[in-house]
Amino acid sequence: MIRIEIPGFGNLELQHLVCDYNGTLALDGQLQPGIAEQLSRLASQLAIHVITADTFGQARAELAGLPVSLHITPLENQAQTKLEFVQKLGAAVTAAIGNGRNDCRMLDAAALGIALIQREGGAATTVAAADVVCSSIHDAIALLHNPKRLIATLRS
Ligand SMILES: [Mg+2]
Repeated sequence: MIRIEIPGFGNLELQHLVCDYNGTLALDGQLQPGIAEQLSRLASQLAIHVITADTFGQARAELAGLPVSLHITPLENQAQTKLEFVQKLGAAVTAAIGNGRNDCRMLDAAALGIALIQREGGAATTVAAADVVCSSIHDAIALLHNPKRLIATLRS
């Protein structure tokens, strides 16, 4: 659990983190350098879920041994599938990170939605639906480790 009180935004009591894979944790199917360590550290506070259509077929191998649960979904209706996944966990206790257009609805629903614009780019609708926009997954995860950064960005 991560508790963060943000004046004007609300009190976050996060239990879950839902991450997109490609364009978010990975580039061209491969986990980005340093992410394994960051996820391992965060797993002591949040249950981490990776939800992806696994376009490159590498997610299972790349995430093997890490304390995350992997959910590979059909290509159709990705946006709705991701939204329903967050709702099932409890949107009020979930943070979500993603970059693609099909991440828009889960970022909007989650108590904290973080959009990424990395090398794959970020869908404009998803950036608009997010609470925070970061330029790297490392920065996004670091926000959860350093609540004062989040408070500075989101407070009224
Ligand atoms: Mg993506």
